[in-house]
This record gives sequence, C-alpha cells and structure tokens, in this order.
Amino acid sequence: MLSEFATCPGLFYATSAQDGILSRIRIPGGIISSQQCRAIADIAEQHGGGYMDVTNRANLQIREICTGINAEVLKYLQDMGLGSRNPVVDHIRNIMTSPTAGIDPQELIDTRPFVQSWDNYIAAHPALSALSAKFSICFDGGGIIRVCDRLNDIAIAAVLFDGNIYFRLYLSVGEKGQPPSDMGILLLPKECLPVLAALADVYLAHSNTTSQRRLRLLELLNTLGYENYLQEVKQRLPFSLLYSETREDLTPQPPSLQGEGKYQHIGIHPQRQQGLFYIGVVLPLGRLESKQIRGLADLATKYGSGSLRLTPWQNLLLTDIPQQWVGDVQNEIAFLGLDFSATNIKSALVACSGIKGCAASATDTKGHALALAKYLETRVTLEHPVNIHFSGCEKSCAQHSKSDITLLGVSIEADNETVEGYHVYVGDNKQKFGRELYKYVTFAELPTLIEQMLQVYKIQRLNSNESFGEFTNRYAIAQLHQLFNNNPKSKI
Ligand code: SF4
Repeated sequence: MLSEFATCPGLFYATSAQDGILSRIRIPGGIISSQQCRAIADIAEQHGGGYMDVTNRANLQIREICTGINAEVLKYLQDMGLGSRNPVVDHIRNIMTSPTAGIDPQELIDTRPFVQSWDNYIAAHPALSALSAKFSICFDGGGIIRVCDRLNDIAIAAVLFDGNIYFRLYLSVGEKGQPPSDMGILLLPKECLPVLAALADVYLAHSNTTSQRRLRLLELLNTLGYENYLQEVKQRLPFSLLYSETREDLTPQPPSLQGEGKYQHIGIHPQRQQGLFYIGVVLPLGRLESKQIRGLADLATKYGSGSLRLTPWQNLLLTDIPQQWVGDVQNEIAFLGLDFSATNIKSALVACSGIKGCAASATDTKGHALALAKYLETRVTLEHPVNIHFSGCEKSCAQHSKSDITLLGVSIEADNETVEGYHVYVGDNKQKFGRELYKYVTFAELPTLIEQMLQVYKIQRLNSNESFGEFTNRYAIAQLHQLFNNNPKSKI
C-alpha cells in the first residue's frame, strides 16, 4: 500500500518517488544480522534498483521498486524481523542509539536492551499508531560515539551521578531544529520505559488522532508548556522523579572535534572486549550495492559475530573481529570497493534524497555529491573529514547539525534555459546553514570552486586541527572572497 504519510515511508507504507516506489525498513538501533542483510539484498535485486541506502536514522531504504512488494514478501520480511510485528506502528521513526552500544570502551551502560524494550512496547501497543510518524527517541550510553545531540523528540542519555548510572531526560522544546533540552530529570535505568510510555500517553491525550496532520511533540510541548506536560507525565507514574540541581545542554560537537567525535567510528578501533575490534566502513552517501551487502554480511559471519551496525551518519560497522583477522577483513573490504578511512572525502559527504526521490528538490543532490567527490578525490588530500552537505531545499532533511560547507539546491535561469545550481554556505554560526558565501553557482562551476576553497584552507589554516568551518569563521565574507580567489563566481 502507498503511504498516507507522504514524507514518512515504512515497509508497509511505501511512497512514490520519481525513480519508482520507495520502501523504508526500520532497523531499531541500526543492528542488523547477516541473514537479514542477505534477505534485503535479494529484495533489492528482485523488486528494486539492486542497492540499498542507509538513512540518517540508520534505517534502510530500497528504491526504484516498480510493482510494489507483495503481501507474501512483506510477510517474509516480517518473519525475518525486518518489519514490525504490528504493521500499524511500522511508520514510527526508527529508534536511535550509538552504533557502538555494548562495545564502546567508555560507555556507561549498554543501551541495546532499552532499544529492544521500547520497540517491543511499540509493537504491543497499537494505540501508538496515532503518534506523529516523526515521534523520535534516542538512547545514548555515554560512550565515545555519542548520538544524544542528534535531532530527536526525546533523548535519554546516560550519566554518572553520585556514583550511580542514571539517564538524563532531554525533550525537544523551543525552536525547531535545536538539539533536545535537558529537563533536569534523572531516571534510573528501570524508570526509562515507564517514563517513555507516559510521555507517549500524554501526547495521545492531547492530539487530534483523527487528523491527517499529526502534531510534532515539539509543537505540543511548546503549546502546553513543558512543565505542564511533565506534570501530566508524573501523574501517570507509580514513582517520583528525581530532579538534578544542574542541567547539561546538548551542543553539537564543535567542528574541531568532528574528526575525533562525529566520524571517529570510521576506521579500526578496539572494543571494550579485549582482543576484539570494530571497523567503521565508509558508505558513499549511505549506498550499498546488493553484492556489497552480501559481501559485508559474509565478512560479519566469517570473522565477526554475524551482525552489522548501521550508523546515523550513513556508514556501517563490522564488529567483534579478533585482532589477528583485522588485516584480512581490511583487504576484503577493499576488494568490495569500499573504504574505511575517515579522510576519504566521502566519509563526511551528506546529501538528501534529491530530485529523484523528493518532489521538493531543485537538484540531483546525490548525483552531484558523488560527482563532486570523484572530482576531489584525486585533487585534494584531507587530514580530517570536511563535512559537505547537499540539500535539495531549505528543509535540510539529511543533516540538521552544522556542516563545514552547505550546498543548497536552486534552479538557475541562464540564456533561456534552467540549470541546476547551489547557494554555498560555510562555517558554523547561528544561521541555519552557516554564512552565505556564494549564490547561484551552477553545478558545472561547483567542483573547481570547492577544490579552490579546500586548497586555500589547507594552506591558510592555523594548524592541522583547525576545521574548515573554524577557518572560515575567522574571516569576513569579503575576505573569504579574496582568499578563495579573485573568484569570478563570487556573485553576492
Ligand atoms: S531537504 Fe528538501 S529536497 Fe531534500 S529530501 Fe528534504 S524536503 Fe526533499
């Protein structure tokens, strides 16, 4: 069936796109078995375009489906654990957690059981189908690879308090697009599920469940006031909430730490289990061909524990690899045409669905991003990831945090024809995309412009730890125009 929630497809609610029907498979916590990977590869080949995309909530998408996935195949996927047992709740946003849950050497608590419990709770409570499809939750275990600053309606993040492990409760309030705010509430691990259930119940009590447009939790929290909302949550709980005297705001990691934090999962890393390693594999724009999916599934079975982790940064981890096999696995990853280096330009390249997958897009964001990466690969060598984000319109679905470079798709009228192009934004400041640097750059002009910007950055930065965003923040726009050329494309 096609989705009534046009922007939120699920396995049972496929949506139409320019290149065919799109089906999204929720992978709670991003953890997927080799067997499930092989099943998806088969479906992608038999029904779709022969590839799958990892999304920024660690879902999987199969695209270019011509005739729809029939009931028998849906049942098969359900039996494989790839669709909710209860189809009416399958469209609810995927549950996010750190891709290194349970293997992170510094985490305070393994969040995988919390993901499983909440997923079970959703499946067992069909009334939750009336939640906004965007009702989103993340569990953060307090490790190195954190996810609590990602955009979610609710974030529950582990902290140490008086020598005990608690979870801080964060809710999305105030301005849209901001990380959730600390409510000053500390939850014992056993209190998380009842509190989440109560938060969902208060939502249902106040929203019009027959309306086609469901309110976002943020809208309801802002309308009711978060104190009133929490008061109603407390009335539904059989225990009192513990309040903390301090609050800890979530701020996205500064660009200078992005190489150390945001993309630190790429490459080879020791796990908390002695002698075992995980390898973060770069997926160009989250895409994997079906033969690559099968190849990675085989590696996970042969060398690891038979499961893979999809990340909210649209990459993937192979886990539980004994030290003596790490070199072999590296070679086999390369043999599949994939890479595991954080300095690969594709490791921090992000693009929304673009014109082929979204009617709102002005440009072929994915095609352009891959073409740009191909151009830059042989011309610019990076020591740290530079986050380049292509967005087809101002909604910025693919990335909500700041990028080093944001490219916003626009149509450009020139010589009686319309061509695809971009406004170019740089750096990290209070504006949504960063500071506007150039307007109406055609895609034909873009690769040389970005190359020039990166080359100037490499020569002029203060030191090798200064990110591209920090570098541009030190200059006024007019100075950047001077630095980046004498560039004839400066049209502001
Ligand atoms: S950012 Fe705009 S163009 Fe891109 S997927 Fe979202 S709505 Fe579509």
